[in-house]
Amino acid sequence: MGLLQDKLAKYDEPQKYMAEGIYPYFREIEGKQGTEVLMGGHRVLMFGSNAYTGLTGDDRVIEAGVAAMRKYGSGCAGSRFLNGTLDIHVQLEKELAAFVGKEEALCFATGFTVNSGVIPCLTGRGDYIICDDRDHASIVDGKRLSFSQNLKYKHNDMADLEKQLQKCNPDAIKLIIVDGVFSMEGDLANLPEIVRLKHKYNASIMVDEAHGLGVFGKQGRGVCDYFGLTDEVDLIMGTFSKSLASIGGFIAADKSIINWLKHNARTYIFSASATPAATASALEALHILQQEPERLENLWNVTNYALKRFRESGFEIGATESPIIPLYVRDTEKTFMVTKLAFDEGVFINPVIPPACAPQDTLVRFALMANHTHEQVDEAIQKLTKVFKQLELL
Ligand code: PMP
Repeated sequence: MGLLQDKLAKYDEPQKYMAEGIYPYFREIEGKQGTEVLMGGHRVLMFGSNAYTGLTGDDRVIEAGVAAMRKYGSGCAGSRFLNGTLDIHVQLEKELAAFVGKEEALCFATGFTVNSGVIPCLTGRGDYIICDDRDHASIVDGKRLSFSQNLKYKHNDMADLEKQLQKCNPDAIKLIIVDGVFSMEGDLANLPEIVRLKHKYNASIMVDEAHGLGVFGKQGRGVCDYFGLTDEVDLIMGTFSKSLASIGGFIAADKSIINWLKHNARTYIFSASATPAATASALEALHILQQEPERLENLWNVTNYALKRFRESGFEIGATESPIIPLYVRDTEKTFMVTKLAFDEGVFINPVIPPACAPQDTLVRFALMANHTHEQVDEAIQKLTKVFKQLELL
């Protein structure tokens, strides 16, 4: 064994939680991801999914993927730049650009590779990238790959953002990057104030709409649309892995930005394009989102119901304003215990521990989909109340 193995063999945290019987990860799902799933022969209510629109099991979305696979094959065998561009990639880009309200869009194979490829490609030496300290890991990795100076401000603290902007050379590019909806705690970026500061300091803004798309704004166009600030935001990023019931991601912006990214973003050029099935499924989900406004209505109906019920039941749920409801536990071990006991009771929720949140903010993340019923929410809250009481968290 070498030095590498010697070092990594010391990493035994997962084994510690396995020995305690509370290791919560890599559970296998034996079927489609609906509001109920089968795991290890055990039927559980799914409140840990990001499929807010509830379209991952939709027959039309599935059939679109199957038909595309028949027509185009199983993979594209190359980069978009060379042999990997299909007509449906281009169609999806056009429709997404129109949907979010930008001139053009580019599709990538995952949302992660949008952020990790686009962010380092936009600004150069002497410029600045300014992030909220709760921004998603893909944004953090994108800025790490950049030659620019990286600044961050305390979560949604606009005075701190202004302080960071004041540090910058006024003649350099200053790109502010935020999650529109914060992925673990469900609160929104203070976009109106960020836009005001953008003008004051001549900065630019990129918004990650991973959790805003399909949830906020007209027909689910996202948080920028919800605030009426689409024209003020320079770049809008989104993923297909949540509301669009597939896998992939996109960046939308004006023509000059897209022209640059198209020829320079390394994860776009040096990585193979999204599969035909993934692309066609996302396209079909995008159509359904626009054709069936009742989905969004259902999502908000059940979300508002759950928010009210959790608050009434005494759970600490922070500042969420979205279908992502954090149930704070504030202790890693207890967070895993809640996850395990809830699973045994028949409720699947996700544990969130550092680095996905601050160490004092560990939580279980309860997320809603458009096809959840009030009865399912009632059942889950009743079971979670039992678990939280058992662990003296309520
Ligand atoms: N941005 C945010 C805010 C996310 O939550 C995620 C996924 N969890 C991503 C980007 C990455 O998206 P994908 O899963 O499509 O790679």
